Amino acid sequence: MIRPLSLKELQGRFGGELINGSVDFSQVCTDTRKLDSQALFVALVGENFDAHDFVGELDGQVLGLVVDREVPSCTLPQWRVDDTTVALGQIGLLCREQFEGPVIAITGSCGKTTVKEMLSAIFSQRHTPCVTKGNLNNQFGLPITLFGLSKQHDVLILEMGASGPDDIGYLCSIGKPSVSAVNNVMPAHVEGFGSVDAIAKAKGQIYTGLDIGGTAIINADDHFADYWRGRMPEGVHTLEVGLSNQCALYAENIVLDKTGCAAFDLVIEGVTHRLKLRLLGEHNVHNALVAAGCAFATAIPAGEIVRGLTNLSGVSGRLHEQLGIAGATVIDDSYNANPGSVGAAIELLAQRRGKKILVLGDMGELGPDAEEMHRGVGALARERGLDALFTFGPLGTAASMAFSDGRHESLRNYREREALIAALTHELDNNTTVLVKGSRSARMELVAQALLGNS
Ligand code: ATP
Ligand code: MG
Repeated sequence: MIRPLSLKELQGRFGGELINGSVDFSQVCTDTRKLDSQALFVALVGENFDAHDFVGELDGQVLGLVVDREVPSCTLPQWRVDDTTVALGQIGLLCREQFEGPVIAITGSCGKTTVKEMLSAIFSQRHTPCVTKGNLNNQFGLPITLFGLSKQHDVLILEMGASGPDDIGYLCSIGKPSVSAVNNVMPAHVEGFGSVDAIAKAKGQIYTGLDIGGTAIINADDHFADYWRGRMPEGVHTLEVGLSNQCALYAENIVLDKTGCAAFDLVIEGVTHRLKLRLLGEHNVHNALVAAGCAFATAIPAGEIVRGLTNLSGVSGRLHEQLGIAGATVIDDSYNANPGSVGAAIELLAQRRGKKILVLGDMGELGPDAEEMHRGVGALARERGLDALFTFGPLGTAASMAFSDGRHESLRNYREREALIAALTHELDNNTTVLVKGSRSARMELVAQALLGNS
């Protein structure tokens, strides 16, 4: 925190009730396993847990409590509120209000963390950015990032994730961005929204969440670019990035090297800068454009943007290439999957020489069209000439069927992780590239680790 807060200040601003007086604090914790005697404890309530079950025993272990019911057995100062998750956001908002530098917010269906890491690499050269850690991009993670703001920080970079229609609006009301970007819209987390159009509308809240004078970075190549152009709030600047030379920042002459890293010309206001990414996949050109747009909007010089993008060598679990058992190349993309990112992975794999194997764990949260979407990626893998598709989980059957053109005898669909790993191990040699991907719930990192010989 930039300066300490007090329970009195919170109650004065947001209501609720003070019990056992007030206390000043400059740290917040929410995890009973990581208590800190100098921190305020916020008792969160989730579907499967209620931290109120533990607060009776916290005397002396924390400075004070935020609770949704009084804890009579405890002498600590308490701020009683209706909803502790909302209170967590309110504390985050006060931290945000202490910060005067630029605030960049990124949402989108895929590539948010990658763009955030690109921005971190750009800003870290000459600034001290406060950046979302890992994937802490929701109503719990975003306030935690804001608590980490300190006097040293001169820019704030926030990843914002959405699993429902009003999530981005809520996160913007706390993070208050001055530069916002929707990286892209693809069918991801459809279950919480109903349709891709609804996803676009929800993500657009990152633009309506800008104040007058803020800047909206628009990915001009996205299907919904026009939709957002038509709904931009008055007084908000727009900066377009994409592959067309009509954009303020654009990319051209893209060349992929034999490993799948892209080199391209980044044109910033008419000046061309050649750069080569060390990240795999052509889709990273689009991520780099959005990151470059955000940095440019905060007056970072072009040379610094190019150097920062060139410096970033990898984002863990996202197309991370390593040498596996039997000399095979293993690309670990196990962090997550949706049809858009699987498409990008297939394109990358298709460029490789030798035998190409895609290992796909089920993509979750896709709603009623999930089976159709699995069929779609199976068909794409076949069309792009991959040598084998191994799937893991019940939905994988649809992908495998499409890949093998309905021939049951060549289906490679597995329900047991050990059986999948054993079958894959037989396929490995130094002429083979295996790309491992799947939704978080499929835990495909365990498969990637096994193929790397780490288990
Ligand atoms: P999450 O919603 O889980 O936070 P995210 O939006 O932060 O995801 P990343 O973690 O950066 O996205 O990447 C997730 C997956 O999407 C990786 O497999 C990555 O290779 C792929 N990906 C990243 N950027 C793009 C893009 N622009 N288009 C398609 N796929 C992408
Ligand atoms: Mg992320």
